[in-house]
Amino acid sequence: MILKTQLATKRFSQKHGEVIALKDVSIEINKGEFVSITGPSGSGKSTLLLMLGGMSTPTQGQVFWENEPIYQWKLKERAQWRAKKVGFVFQSFNLIPYLTVIENVSIAMRLANDSAREKERILQVLADMKLSDRLHHLSSELSVGQQQRVALARALIKNPEILFADEPTGNLDPDTAAEVLAVLKKLNNEGKTIILITHDPNIAKMTQRTIRIVNGEIEPTARS
Ligand code: ADP
Ligand code: MG
Repeated sequence: MILKTQLATKRFSQKHGEVIALKDVSIEINKGEFVSITGPSGSGKSTLLLMLGGMSTPTQGQVFWENEPIYQWKLKERAQWRAKKVGFVFQSFNLIPYLTVIENVSIAMRLANDSAREKERILQVLADMKLSDRLHHLSSELSVGQQQRVALARALIKNPEILFADEPTGNLDPDTAAEVLAVLKKLNNEGKTIILITHDPNIAKMTQRTIRIVNGEIEPTARS
């Protein structure tokens, strides 16, 4: 077990009252697993991913990384843990449009504060993502599939122990989506722990295990 939540609840106060985004969520992720989180829009998937990634403090309950409660660490410790161990990719890529491919990726490396063989590693990861011929293109000049591969390279540059992907294929056409999923599958085969959010049951089926969330609550598993 690498990561787990224990009776994690998240409430938000909104204009028209309180929203319970997550309710008593207890899940466990094992090292090397490829897990999908599915559920309807607004069911709490992104909130859960942010919480697992150290970016959203539970209102109640705990999140443990290797049995240590991450929300009891100091903010700075949690930020360092996140910079070193956790990679994130999002539906909208979140690249900086006026930076080149290589610049977008090297930013993440600086955040991880890891200077050793920096350049070499960046070139290697970009080659793994089949972007060697696009290094000096602006990210805004790339196709959406290429942009998502840059986002993946940025997430992978620090060799995180776990990769979180929030609807990474949501903005991609089916062929490009399949390409990105194949990259995730390959990373998992090489040992990376991956948590993938998707509302698409066909994509969820590609993973080893699916956690379904409805109205902020985990549904009992139909498949394991
Ligand atoms: P999903 O990713 O499954 O679509 P979310 O986790 O984004 O769902 O949202 C779950 C619920 O929590 C929604 O009702 C949403 O409006 C609410 N919510 C999420 N983030 C916030 C926030 N930062 N402030 C207020 N409400 C939020
Ligand atoms: Mg979401």
